Formats: sequence, structure tokens, C-alpha cells
Amino acid sequence: MDIGDTIRRLKKELPSGVRLAAVSKFHPADAIREAYSAGQRIFAESRPQEFYAKVVELGASRTPDGTPEYSDIEWHFIGHLQTNKLKLVLPYVSLVQSVDSLHLLQAIDRWGKENGRVTNVLLECHIAAEQTKQGFSMDEIRQILAEEQSYTNVRFCGLMGMATFTDDEMVIRADFGRIQGLFDSLVSSAGGSRLKYFRELSIGMSEDYRIALEYGSTMVRIGTMIFGPRSY
Ligand SMILES: *Cc1c(COP(=O)(O)O)cnc(C)c1O
Repeated sequence: MDIGDTIRRLKKELPSGVRLAAVSKFHPADAIREAYSAGQRIFAESRPQEFYAKVVELGASRTPDGTPEYSDIEWHFIGHLQTNKLKLVLPYVSLVQSVDSLHLLQAIDRWGKENGRVTNVLLECHIAAEQTKQGFSMDEIRQILAEEQSYTNVRFCGLMGMATFTDDEMVIRADFGRIQGLFDSLVSSAGGSRLKYFRELSIGMSEDYRIALEYGSTMVRIGTMIFGPRSY
């Protein structure tokens, strides 16, 4: 199916209040242009160099009368971010969904202080059975949020998680159930102004987004279903 058709179909299917991040990694800028034409505005990338190249390429795009064409794209970063690559990503990103270590969190905060910026982040929670997946444990996340005042240049906007890569739906449900439980308890214990931006639960990909919707997803990250398979 065509990129535009899939975007339109997904937008119809997603409940109001659930946003779609189109995962364009490994696909060319032209694929982003096609999705943009169908009304898609949030795009997510996972590699700093590739992210930066696309931001620059699309940022230079002008309509025949000279108006910037893609200035309302909201860029998200969803991959592993090394601290020596921050300057390729942080100036352009509206949400870093994949903060997966204290080292990275502190570096983002420090970069923000030096550059007069506050960066929106999601904390990546390790919910999958695989050891290979990145992310904090639930206890680490509680600990960070208990000390959130010390990160003056980071805005904690919620959680991101990836379920186990499996056909076993019960395993996926258990993974999503755990992150939803954590998210709900954090939201209800936050109260008042503290963590007032903490409202995003980013769960669900091409293969499991319908399940994620049952577990309170506020944002799905869909790549393959929209853009086709990636060749790594
Ligand atoms: C690649 C990626 C996705 C998209 O996966 P699809 O299966 O192609 O939809 C979503 N989230 C993260 C963190 C990813 O790295």
C-alpha cells in the first residue's frame, strides 16, 4: 500500500488523543515528503547523522515562491544517542524519546544549560524480556523522577517502551501492562505542578500498536507499516 494511504488509514484508526510518530529511519527524505503530503507531521529517526542530514535537507526545501516547506515537522529521536552526538540532534528535536541512561540524561541537561535550551524527553523503560534492549528499570525511573528538580534543562514528558520481540501476545500484553502500571502510578503520585508535562506513554510499533492502544498508549511509533521494510 501507498505511504499516503497508510497514513490516512492509521489516522482514522487511532483514537483521538493518540499521536502517530512516523518512523522514517533508513528511508530517504522523499519518503518523508510523501507522508508529509498526506498530513503527517511527526517523524522519528534513530541515528544522529541520518537525523541531521534529513533535518538539513528538508529544512532547505522551498516552495516556488520561496516559503520554507517543512518548517512544521516535529522531529523525534528514538535511537541510542551517544553524548558526543548531542549537537547533531538536540538543536532540532522536539522530543527525545529514548533517554536510556543517567549519563545521557545528565549530558542533555548540561547541554541545555550551556545552550539555553530545555529538552523534552521520555525516559525509556526496559520492559522486554530481552537483555539486549536499552532502558531504565522501573526503580531507576522512580529514582530519577524523585530528583527531577535537579535537571533544570530537561522536561520530563513521559515514558517510552518496547515490548519483547515475539509472536506471543500474552508476553507483549504483560510488557505493556507493566509500563502502563508504572506510568499510571507516576502520574497519580506526581500531583500539582511537579511533572505537569508528564503525560506521554509511547508504546506500540507496526506489529503491536493495536495491543498498545489497549494499554493506554498516547503515542505509537510506526515505521515498517508506513514505509515498508528497511534495508540495513
Ligand atoms: C524502528 C523503531 C520503531 C518502528 O518499528 P516498526 O516495527 O518498523 O514499526 C519504533 N520504535 C523504535 C524505538 C524503533 O527503533
